[in-house]
Amino acid sequence: MDMAADLPDGLPARRKTRLVRVGGVPVGGGHPVAVQSMTNTDTADEVATAVQVAQLARAGSEIVRLTVNTQEAARAVPRIRERLLAMNLEVPLVGDFHFNGHKLLSDNPACLEALAKLRINPGNVGRGARRDDQFAQLIELACRFGKPLRIGVNWGSLDPALLARLMDENARRPQPGDATQIMREAMVASALESAAKAEELGLPGDAIVLSCKVSGVQDLIAIYRELAARCDYPLHLGLTEAGMGSKGIVASTAALSVLLQEGIGDTIRVSLTPEPGGDRTQEVVVAQEILQTMGLRAFTPLVAACPGCGRTSSTVFQELAQEIQSHVRARMPEWRLQHEGVENMTLAVMGCVVNGPGESKHANIGISLPGTGETPVAPVYVDGEKTITLKGDDIAREFKAIVDDYVARKYPRRETR
Ligand code: SF4
Repeated sequence: MDMAADLPDGLPARRKTRLVRVGGVPVGGGHPVAVQSMTNTDTADEVATAVQVAQLARAGSEIVRLTVNTQEAARAVPRIRERLLAMNLEVPLVGDFHFNGHKLLSDNPACLEALAKLRINPGNVGRGARRDDQFAQLIELACRFGKPLRIGVNWGSLDPALLARLMDENARRPQPGDATQIMREAMVASALESAAKAEELGLPGDAIVLSCKVSGVQDLIAIYRELAARCDYPLHLGLTEAGMGSKGIVASTAALSVLLQEGIGDTIRVSLTPEPGGDRTQEVVVAQEILQTMGLRAFTPLVAACPGCGRTSSTVFQELAQEIQSHVRARMPEWRLQHEGVENMTLAVMGCVVNGPGESKHANIGISLPGTGETPVAPVYVDGEKTITLKGDDIAREFKAIVDDYVARKYPRRETR
């Protein structure tokens, strides 16, 4: 299926790829870019992991990866899936395997059965002579159970044999490349050679997804451009070790946006380091916001708000913007089920008369609050028309009621079974 015709103006056609089915989620083949996340609980703790997967899925993660590093973790996976199904959550689970994946999966077929996809890192499949055998065992298991596989290269664990080979080849060139070039080449070669080997061993080409994660924005862009040009497997994008807070968000957004703008990327993950005790679902919200602000997908109504300036000397305007944003997020689980297209709604909360009315008219619903020295009234615009002017201490409640009423009137009720 080619979705290029559905893209908004300014976005180039998506790169054409094979279609891989990860549980019920289509990846590649022109389907919308899927949002992924990863748990940070001990997978062996099935209750904590099921709770976190549920939180990530409810926040909008369409695929959730969990590490499977021990026998206890492998045994917990089917129970985690059962717990999720009991919560009515069918989110596909991806098992992340390093070093001992062949053994864990051979010993625990129920784990393999419960997973929708396997992720292996070619640099961590095994060392020396055991590597090829363990890789072949993993491919045989994936084939036997009909599971797709992500071959996920990471620059922190590049296959040392492959790196040594490329460095030797480079040294023999008349004009050897620098270390950065070799590292980039090694990442791409590791992914492509592993995929070719997997196909030779019998894994269908439409069961393979590739990724090559690095922590440098320019490296990531260069590597994925090369990868995209040299294969038609779907690509999972992510900047590894992006970091905490605004640093992680900005770095991920910068890297992913350039590639998405070029039509590269079929699933994304934003690898944020949470603050201690922080909310893991932030990585899902950021991934959705990247896709939505680029016009690639819509998940939740966007609230545009001006930054405020010397014309907004009270906090009323910031408080209202925050309250509306929270209101929309809180109502969205219900709205999504009941009102088709509500995720495309746009709202504007503006601080004064300079840009307030103009920006509010561009949104489905906008409110222009009074700046310092202006008459204390707040005109509301609905679909570009001024409808009512709010004043007094109850503006937030009245504005939220206008939003709720608009959703009920404008977005058709979904058929319920
Ligand atoms: S809309 Fe008004 S308050 Fe907001 S940034 Fe512009 S001038 Fe300042």
